[in-house]
Amino acid sequence: MKASVCYKKNDLRTEDLPTPEISDNEVLIKMLACGLCGTDIQKIRGDSVTKPTVLGHEVVGQIVKKGKNINNYQLGDRVITAIHVPCFTCHYCNKGHYTICEQFRTNNIDPGGFAEFIRIPELHLKHLTHKVSDNVTDEEATLIEPIACCLHGLKQADIRPDDSVLIMGVGTIGILHAQLAKIKGANKVIVSDMSEYKLQKALKVGCDYAINITEKDIISEVNQITNGQGVDVIVIAAGVSSLVSDAVNMVRRAGRIIVFSGFDKNKLVTLDASRFFKDEISIIGTYSVTPYEFPEALDLLEKRKLNTDEMITHVFPLDKLSEAIDLSTDPKQSVLKVIIKSEI
Ligand SMILES: [Zn+2]
Ligand SMILES: [Zn+2]
Repeated sequence: MKASVCYKKNDLRTEDLPTPEISDNEVLIKMLACGLCGTDIQKIRGDSVTKPTVLGHEVVGQIVKKGKNINNYQLGDRVITAIHVPCFTCHYCNKGHYTICEQFRTNNIDPGGFAEFIRIPELHLKHLTHKVSDNVTDEEATLIEPIACCLHGLKQADIRPDDSVLIMGVGTIGILHAQLAKIKGANKVIVSDMSEYKLQKALKVGCDYAINITEKDIISEVNQITNGQGVDVIVIAAGVSSLVSDAVNMVRRAGRIIVFSGFDKNKLVTLDASRFFKDEISIIGTYSVTPYEFPEALDLLEKRKLNTDEMITHVFPLDKLSEAIDLSTDPKQSVLKVIIKSEI
């Protein structure tokens, strides 16, 4: 079968790998579509994962083989799955912090989403796999995992009716956050970015204010929009660590800042620390997704609650993953979500 193997930094090769064998408690899917995530790009272009490896985790596929103990799935079922399952019993899991579980990052689908066929192990089948109804396209189904990740972070944002929410960075994740904030009842959703293309997309999906940070001073704009009060909730959805200090300067008293991005560079930032005590602000980190957010993510898509048409801008075949990454990372291009398909 075909798979896109990352050998070393920026070295992706389409190769013929053996199709995975399955056990009695597993299924094999044919990959229909797999979203290209910012973290895939970071891993391919950086040193954070052991290579060679097959990346890709926003996957939808069709069951083509199933083990003899599998009764709740049929051949032909279209399913989504994800890559990490917690143990549910350790210190962290017992406290509800499933994504910090020691087991979490040790398990994966085989070999990864950017492959023609994928083995879904027993644990993944039990906890992370869901059938997708016919009114959700393959391309849309790849968004279930990122939607679930955003829901995981937003749980801690505790958005209430009438809240104002600022999303800093409106790539796919930022635009999903913006739409989910509206669904959760936020009355003013403000987005900021350097890309006018992305800001216009955000306005099209229902955001109320778009701030182009190359043209305007974000702090004074936010002050104006919120009558000097500051925003109730801020989501940082761009990998620039200095946004954390900006956010501290824009969040209202007792407001919440959700840090959704990883920061590879400039890890140390300077903050106005006085705001924690007298203003009761919170900065909350969030990583990945637990099994508990997938049903809600699936339901939102099936009920057509999210505008996905404005978000999915490009589809590439599996053997053009390198080109897809080049396009995705070129600031001059008009691009949001890129989907990889095994067949086009
Ligand atoms: Zn992702
Ligand atoms: Zn655990």
